[in-house]
Amino acid sequence: MHNYDNAQELTKALSPDIPVLLNRPHAARRAARYFVEQFPGRSLYAVKANPSPELLKLLYNEGVTHFDVASLEEVRLVRAILPEAELCFMHPIKSEASIREAYYDHGVRVFSLDSIDELEKIERATDNAEDLTLCVRLKVASEFSQISLASKFGIDVDDSTALLMRARQTADALGICFHVGSQAMTPLAYVHALERVRMAIVEASVTVDIVDVGGGFPSIYPDMEPPSLNHYFSAISRTFEDLPISYSAELWCEPGRALAAEYNSLIVKVEQRRGNELYINDGAYGTLFDAAHIGWRFPVKLIGGTSPDAASTEYSFYGPTCDDMDHMAGPFILPDDVKTGDYIEIGMLGAYGSAMRTKFNGYGSIDDYDVIDEPMASVYVGENLDRTNRENVVSFPGA
Ligand SMILES: *Cc1c(COP(=O)(O)O)cnc(C)c1O
Repeated sequence: MHNYDNAQELTKALSPDIPVLLNRPHAARRAARYFVEQFPGRSLYAVKANPSPELLKLLYNEGVTHFDVASLEEVRLVRAILPEAELCFMHPIKSEASIREAYYDHGVRVFSLDSIDELEKIERATDNAEDLTLCVRLKVASEFSQISLASKFGIDVDDSTALLMRARQTADALGICFHVGSQAMTPLAYVHALERVRMAIVEASVTVDIVDVGGGFPSIYPDMEPPSLNHYFSAISRTFEDLPISYSAELWCEPGRALAAEYNSLIVKVEQRRGNELYINDGAYGTLFDAAHIGWRFPVKLIGGTSPDAASTEYSFYGPTCDDMDHMAGPFILPDDVKTGDYIEIGMLGAYGSAMRTKFNGYGSIDDYDVIDEPMASVYVGENLDRTNRENVVSFPGA
């Protein structure tokens, strides 16, 4: 396959009529290396953010050898691509058949749960296996995150004692996990959640072998510039070290967004302009699901734009399907002379972008190419590597 340096070179050569996904392997490798080297514990990749086989292999080759999978299909997918990978089935509500297949056919030993029901399911499906790592999912607040994960899963600290004690009897290793919500804008999210972990451990007086702080690590989007990841890591590390757990207890995390966001951008074509509404060839049922359904603002760039200081305008986008909901409100800032036939690059779509595509209404076909230029933003280069946003950073007495 022929590859290109960047979006401009590609559109010049191909004038693509369907959307094109651009892969940036160098950006994914850099993200993986950062987590492997800097996170003070083990990093599991949350596969749902982007299950692309190329991405899974890249991450694995950079040292991300553990994967957070949440469905039997994800278990099968990762196992087929990476026979040696460690798979952790971190969906707290699973079918008994999927637990059984994961355990017996794919070597899965790590399971999460948030109820006695699920514990009994796991015991039955594994025929009371004695080599299980069981992670009890605690409910924590999502107040510091852009996307809540607080209501669906997790057991309240106040109700967790019996479950922790029961799980301790079944488990070879016992973990506690949580998810602070996606795109957590301050390290405080993790500090608060770990305080709940402390309360749960103290109440249940159980030995805990693993504390898993989940995903939520942020990327950069317009008007969403988080402090740099090292602040998150040090806040987590200090709080973890202070928990009533043994010296050999392990710290885990499950980044999805932070490992995948910079991997993809998207080239779309403007099929028509109506005022400041651009009709483009990808949308709500494709790569731009989050832009449509939760109003996420991704960075945009007119490819081959005329002059750098051309006046700019706020646009919204309509996707290609016949559905009114196929609308991305933005606003997306582009030069004011965008016209039919122009190409736009939309950045930071590696997480929850390419993973969301459907074939609705006959759309959904896409090409993909590797490019070598930088993503539109990166939390792993320059000042973003060491940004201190005073409002968001936790300060520690004596630090
Ligand atoms: C979605 C999910 C993740 C990844 O979350 P990000 O916000 O993308 O980092 C991690 N763990 C679990 C259990 C999840 O459901």
